[in-house]
Amino acid sequence: MKKRFYNENEAEKYVKHGSMEVPQQQTTVQLQECIELFTTMETLEEENPWYCPVCKKHQLATKKLDLWFLPEVLIIHLKRFSYTKFTREKLDSIVDFPLRELDFSGCLLRKSQSNGEPPSRYDLIAVSNHYGGLRDGHYTSYARNKDNGQWYYFDDSKVTYAREDQIVTNAAYVLFYQRQDKIRKPTLPAPNTSPASSSQPANDITSCKDDDITPCKEDDAELGAAAAASSSYVTMETD
Ligand SMILES: [Zn+2]
Repeated sequence: MKKRFYNENEAEKYVKHGSMEVPQQQTTVQLQECIELFTTMETLEEENPWYCPVCKKHQLATKKLDLWFLPEVLIIHLKRFSYTKFTREKLDSIVDFPLRELDFSGCLLRKSQSNGEPPSRYDLIAVSNHYGGLRDGHYTSYARNKDNGQWYYFDDSKVTYAREDQIVTNAAYVLFYQRQDKIRKPTLPAPNTSPASSSQPANDITSCKDDDITPCKEDDAELGAAAAASSSYVTMETD
């Protein structure tokens, strides 16, 4: 059986390519670098030329994206699914993004003219995560409660407290930032998230406690999680 599928002589003849020597390591890029790349001038590929109405023929044109004004809520979609003519892959690089003070002032084409201009800084309010490959996967999310400032992790019907140092991972897929002038100061104290303070397993806050002050129904928790994670268990069709 082995001989049918494995030819030892053939296997010995292989040439080791230099690229195999390099250990596969997790790459980290800064979000700011991605934004700079996004606004860098690029020349369109030969397969994607631009039809010039003056020359009446296709030309290799250049393209440049610039920002004119900044929105209240900035949604950054990290392109983790890479398609070329030859390959299709999911990119697992860690994109290191700030939870506070994401500064977009350097990307604005229009320079600020009056003092009444809104700020160009953003704070993170939510992250949508994608786990899995090209064909299917699972979505979860991190979101910050605007009233108490606490971060939560939503995974289907399970909602748990999250720490700020857990939010940047290579699963981050869509980032939601809010402009600083639109962010309200938390009006409620942050909940006590230490596991010792609760008899509940870990920090699962979807479980109901008998002495819980706030009414909590399974349905409510489920609904909240589903809304925040915006459709869990989505099958991604890539064909
Ligand atoms: Zn032309």
